[in-house]
Amino acid sequence: MIKEKKILVMLVAIAMLGSAILLSGCVEEKKENKIIVGTSADFPPFEYTDASGNIIGFDIELITTILENLNYTVEVKDISFISLIPSLQADKIDVIAAGMTINETREEEIDFSDPYYQADQSVLIKKGSGVEINASHDLENFTASIANLTIGAQTGTTGADWVQEHLINTNMMDEENLKLYEIYIDAVADLDIGTERLDAIVLDLDVAQAFAENENREVAYTIITGENYGFGVKEGNTALVEKINAELEKFIGSDDWTALINKYFE
Ligand code: GLN
Repeated sequence: MIKEKKILVMLVAIAMLGSAILLSGCVEEKKENKIIVGTSADFPPFEYTDASGNIIGFDIELITTILENLNYTVEVKDISFISLIPSLQADKIDVIAAGMTINETREEEIDFSDPYYQADQSVLIKKGSGVEINASHDLENFTASIANLTIGAQTGTTGADWVQEHLINTNMMDEENLKLYEIYIDAVADLDIGTERLDAIVLDLDVAQAFAENENREVAYTIITGENYGFGVKEGNTALVEKINAELEKFIGSDDWTALINKYFE
């Protein structure tokens, strides 16, 4: 009888030890399962802050859904756009969700998910500022009409690249007429002040449209560039990119996808 009791006590002890080990395993795993998403929350409707300072937007909701479906917990960090790739390379973040266009230069530095959104560039101006743009579909007429303007763009973006390539490298525009801003909010603030600061901003069309919800601004031109946004991961992190792609494929075109589009683009 005593012997049996001893065995029972031992069994209980072993079971307790076992579950303790299992439990600590779970806690460990949870830490490893956290993903830090880096964004630049000045890019509505893809990423921006609400009145309480929470980072929200199309990209944020999409990547959070995908990562949570993959059993990760998600933390979102607000970083200036130009610092996103270096932060990814330094392991300070695990994923970039920032309306980032997939292009060759970036593909040399990081890996991208499959495309999840198509975008073009555009020209945002202040209403009534007297800035005149030739909205002709002939690219030459259009570029000639903006070559004398002071143009704002965000540092390190495809919008800034477009101005550099089509206006500065072609010697149509003085380099000093391109004003680079670290965040769009500052560019838009200068545009609102008036032409003594800035005549126009070149930026992604959907974002220009979001900024033009303010009645003092308008989108004066669409520059068709046919860009694709992708989520960025550290170069070589194939496992994560494949998991994200599998979830993207399931999600795009689903009812939840339509709901997400309607929520942020209506
Ligand atoms: N799509 C543009 C780019 O990749 C702008 C992105 C952004 O400013 N968040 O450069």
